[in-house]
Amino acid sequence: KVAVFGSFVVDLMARASHLPKPGETVKGSIFKMGAGGKGFNQGVAAYKSGADVAMITKVGQDTFADVALNVMDELNWSKEYMLYNPEVGTGSAIIMVDEQTSQNEIIIVPGACSTITAQEVDNLRPLLSECAYVLLQLEVNQDANERLVDLANECGCKVILNTAPYQAIRDEFLSKIYMVTPNEVEAEMMTGIHVEGLEAAKKAAQVFFDKGVQVVLITLGERGVFISDHGREEIISAFKVDAVDTTGAGDAFNGGLLTALSEGKDLWEASRFASALAALSVQKIGTTPAMPTREEVEVFLKQ
Ligand code: ADP
Repeated sequence: KVAVFGSFVVDLMARASHLPKPGETVKGSIFKMGAGGKGFNQGVAAYKSGADVAMITKVGQDTFADVALNVMDELNWSKEYMLYNPEVGTGSAIIMVDEQTSQNEIIIVPGACSTITAQEVDNLRPLLSECAYVLLQLEVNQDANERLVDLANECGCKVILNTAPYQAIRDEFLSKIYMVTPNEVEAEMMTGIHVEGLEAAKKAAQVFFDKGVQVVLITLGERGVFISDHGREEIISAFKVDAVDTTGAGDAFNGGLLTALSEGKDLWEASRFASALAALSVQKIGTTPAMPTREEVEVFLKQ
């Protein structure tokens, strides 16, 4: 068993011929509402690709919460670890997309998922004692992440931290993390090193090792992923596919990684499995609906 601890937000996406200027109203062409949040996306990716995942996130008691609950029902996925805050609304993200340039403007209001309490984390002790890994991101309130990491360490559950979206974190927090998975931009913000090739990636990884992290994966978009377990280090290429929407590539990768590691695959095999998930996800529009099933991943890997 594994766990994902993180955010849920409802994505409210509208496309228009251009982005509105301050004070301007623009008529849009398409509106879509869907499940989002890095935590939830990564949880869905792991669950659909075959892991026994406990999803820990927090929503309000409002109609937006149903967006999460309905996805879980459709996937036949347990809601046992869903947390509720009746006073604060479910998180949301307003995403405006320029049809011509694909540029976007986003406002995220994390709402309920930034109100996870110490007591709620402490209640997870029995669960974490059963989990080999827990995957988290930096989208919920950081005091909850800190408490969760302490608890996971006490329970013998290894922590994988996807350092997204970037925010400054304490070295003491990092020292308790087993594996970090920044993307290129986050790796640069956290280490000050521009990860342009293998040598630079090794230097960036060393910064994390010096802080006590044991495994470093830096995702490099269509260039692939740098992997280091402080012994063997290399960049493995991404699969060549026609990408139509790369939002959520990192979420697919992290979810797939969790699945593969939970099955005992080694780091290299797990990264290949994760890359396959990400390559499949970028060929579809959207985030949670774009996450591939186990069968799709296996067919893709046999090609
Ligand atoms: P993020 O979405 O967090 O910025 P990346 O862009 O680094 O993360 O992508 C994560 C992983 O997704 C990469 O390591 C790669 O395996 C895969 N990926 C991303 N973009 C593409 C692409 N255009 N084609 C194939 N695989 C991709």
